[in-house]
Amino acid sequence: MTNTQLLKIAKDFGSPVYVYNSEIISQQYKRLTSAFKSVKKVKINYAVKALSNISILKLMKSLGAGLDTVSIQEVQLGLAAGFKAEHIIFTPNGVSLEEIEQAAILGCQINIDNLSILEQFGTKHPDIPVCIRINPHVMAGGNTNISVGHIDSKFGISIHQIPHILRIVENTNMNINGIHMHTGSDILDIDVFIYASEILFETAKNFKNLEFIDFGSGFKVPYKPGDIETNIEEFGEKLSTRFNEFCKEYGKELTLAFEPGKFLVSEAGLFLAKVNVVKQTTSTVFAQIDSGFNHLIRPMLYGSQHEIENISNPKGRERFYSVVGYICETDTFANNRRISEINEGDILAFKNAGAYCYSMASNYNSRYRPAEVLWHNGEAHLIRKRETFDDIINNQIKIDLKPKKEKA
Ligand SMILES: *Cc1c(COP(=O)(O)O)cnc(C)c1O
Repeated sequence: MTNTQLLKIAKDFGSPVYVYNSEIISQQYKRLTSAFKSVKKVKINYAVKALSNISILKLMKSLGAGLDTVSIQEVQLGLAAGFKAEHIIFTPNGVSLEEIEQAAILGCQINIDNLSILEQFGTKHPDIPVCIRINPHVMAGGNTNISVGHIDSKFGISIHQIPHILRIVENTNMNINGIHMHTGSDILDIDVFIYASEILFETAKNFKNLEFIDFGSGFKVPYKPGDIETNIEEFGEKLSTRFNEFCKEYGKELTLAFEPGKFLVSEAGLFLAKVNVVKQTTSTVFAQIDSGFNHLIRPMLYGSQHEIENISNPKGRERFYSVVGYICETDTFANNRRISEINEGDILAFKNAGAYCYSMASNYNSRYRPAEVLWHNGEAHLIRKRETFDDIINNQIKIDLKPKKEKA
């Protein structure tokens, strides 16, 4: 997309606005599937929580993806987008038995990640096949906020508890049809991931009726220059080879499943915001935009770095800026960042805004959540309206409180 096209979107739909390029999503999907082309059965289940707009889900469906969901509402969104329940895997953490039963009754593939629910579910529904989420205790990423495979993680059933899983399966006569791991958000080292996969293969041998092995996600995409990116082609080759060997050993052609979020949508998204104020202080120049962590919280929550380009003045002289928001709280998007000269009214484009950006937006400061636009076949399509005051006030109940009567 050109800067002129982006500026037109900001003008037509207002700012701030999220823009997603469908072409990049398709490309990423194809990169992933072609990396695993030597495996007969591959299933990509898109992690809905990364970006859950229904039009994005429909795009995923047209590409051939299934869905990975973490709440019954995400399941409902998937069904509303036209997915068949059998193409939706439900991988929640810490939800009630009732919620898992709801997803199971709808026909989704259930993935259970604790022994208590496994036992209760197996006792009540021995006939419904279940996948189990294993924690292989492998640290796949650097940042402890987003590494979920380590020993203290709340996710998955520890590999040291396999004997207990087997006892539950035997006692309830339930059917385990898949095993799963999701070790963290970043695969920094392919060999570490392959090592975790070996643990999963070892675990798989305990179950006779498997249909699939789900390797979760963790594909890293570059956020800033010099960032490590998962080499998907090399990774695909290594894991495919091992997977095919394992299937031979197991005696059955299993499905290899993944559930990427970030890899599919992060780079497809841009967040456009307008500069309200350029403010010089004794130590820096602030560029204050018409947004804040109510719309894009990743920099403040994870310290993630989103590249920022001044698309109104891309060829201007570069200067150093602190890009901040309008929220009454510290909401720094970027500190001391080199950006081409900013004037009030300029539109800044934040990159890698496809994953975990809109989906984490809130109404803090009683602001509206922004609009979302999908760029598809050279045209801009509005896929979510900007909120209005109705959205802020609709569920609020105004009660008249009479002052307490003073006793005479
Ligand atoms: C969030 C999540 C994913 C997606 O992770 P990405 O880093 O966005 O690819 C996959 N699987 C599960 C179980 C998740 O919770």
